[in-house]
Amino acid sequence: FLWGTLAAVIWLTVGLWLDKALRHVHFLAYHDPLTGLTNRAGLRIGLVHMLAESRRRDTLLGLFYLDLDRFKVINDSLGHAAGDHVLRETAERLRGSVRDSDTVARLGGDEFVVVVGELGAPNHAASLARKIIGRIGAPIGFAGQQLQTGCSIGIALHPGSVDDPDDLLKQADQAMYAAKQGERGGYHYYDESLGVDAARRLSLEMRLRDSVAGDRFVLHYQPLMIDSREPRLAGFEALLRWPGADGRLAPPDEFIPVAEETGLIVPIGRWVLREACRQMRAWQERFALGPDLSMSINISARQMLDADFARHVDEALAESGLAAGSLILELTESLYLQVEPSVLEALATLRRRGVRFAMDDFGTGFSSMAYLTRLPLDRLKIDRSFVRNITHDAGEQVIVRTIVAIARQLGLEIVAEGVETRAQADALQNYGCYLQQGWLFGRAAPPGEIEALFRAGDNSPAEV
Ligand code: C2E
Ligand code: CA
Ligand code: CA
Repeated sequence: FLWGTLAAVIWLTVGLWLDKALRHVHFLAYHDPLTGLTNRAGLRIGLVHMLAESRRRDTLLGLFYLDLDRFKVINDSLGHAAGDHVLRETAERLRGSVRDSDTVARLGGDEFVVVVGELGAPNHAASLARKIIGRIGAPIGFAGQQLQTGCSIGIALHPGSVDDPDDLLKQADQAMYAAKQGERGGYHYYDESLGVDAARRLSLEMRLRDSVAGDRFVLHYQPLMIDSREPRLAGFEALLRWPGADGRLAPPDEFIPVAEETGLIVPIGRWVLREACRQMRAWQERFALGPDLSMSINISARQMLDADFARHVDEALAESGLAAGSLILELTESLYLQVEPSVLEALATLRRRGVRFAMDDFGTGFSSMAYLTRLPLDRLKIDRSFVRNITHDAGEQVIVRTIVAIARQLGLEIVAEGVETRAQADALQNYGCYLQQGWLFGRAAPPGEIEALFRAGDNSPAEV
């Protein structure tokens, strides 16, 4: 009897333990350890049931595909602890935004999926998307700082054109990409035209890779003028163009976002640096360009996070023989850039060599006063959106005057971009902004056209 009981107890204990262990294994297999949310495998299994249920009961199911904005920057610049914290907090907020019966999953990285079982009507998905976007966009406290992300959401509905869980996920993913192309923090429903867009995007990425390998990019240059009443040349801004098979030159807005997402901007940006420095040095030697003329180059935040960034700038200068003092790097406002010590170090190193820095598109991004004082800046560029209505919009006038006043206080030069009319130029000059750039003075043009300008202008440098 004793043996029997003992055997039973052992049997039970082992059984319970096994059961628990198996449950645990099951949990691990279908959950994400960081957030405790369902993982991709779990989501697929769950979706099979939910789709069957939605068919049986004839209800509308919504699948929301979420991708965090700026997560990579936070993770790269503030470290994994910050990244993990953001992901856990996001998971919490998502769970809090839907019913217990709905599913929240993390697919890996910064991608999440929410499946809502019973939507009253298709447009209810939009209100839920807006609610989620609002919640995710609220600041997240971490180690005494306020981190801010946001998210873009793609929505696929069932019943729709597909029945398979993977196909539905793919539709929502494509809708998410469409959302990312629009305003930050937006949402987008899947529609049939998006499948075509996704294919186009992939082909764009592949052609970009080819062009990087084959060095097939082109730089145009836009003149920068000083004193718009008697305009004199003050320098150039190098602007990237990408020749297509049809002979058309694609503007940067069409490919830089993809280049940034894929990291291709690093090799592309390196080429831009070398080519613009080479060109400037060649012009200095061919035409008697004064030492006060500068070459401005646009740098993406993603490029600066690259550990070799400062070295690449040094190399471009050394190779071309261009003096560091002739180079201005234009940085765009982007959150978290300033707190990354290695970026600040790289910028400081370059500045010691004489390289100057401009804050591009000032006033549109995450500008903060702290930001302005922490980065080693020499100039601010007023975004062209503030220039557009400067002659008649009192609000924009106040903004421009304020930016000019801030620049003065901080001892920074101020440049206005997108100057298209005489009236805009005069207004800017009256506000104390003497450096100007825009179609009034010249569009971005290939080097040959810029050289013609050197020869033609009376106050421009002569050929030597
Ligand atoms: P951005 O730095 O603000 O460059 C100025 C943009 O405004 C250029 O467009 C220029 O052609 C345009 N523009 C100049 N004057 C006027 C004007 O009077 N009116 C109007 N409406 N537009 C004017 P673009 O060349 O299409 O460049 C767009 C953006 O792409 C740039 O904005 C810059 O952020 C980015 N970009 C360009 N080249 C590079 C590059 O080599 N590397 C990186 N990372 N970004 C680049
Ligand atoms: Ca620029
Ligand atoms: Ca700009």
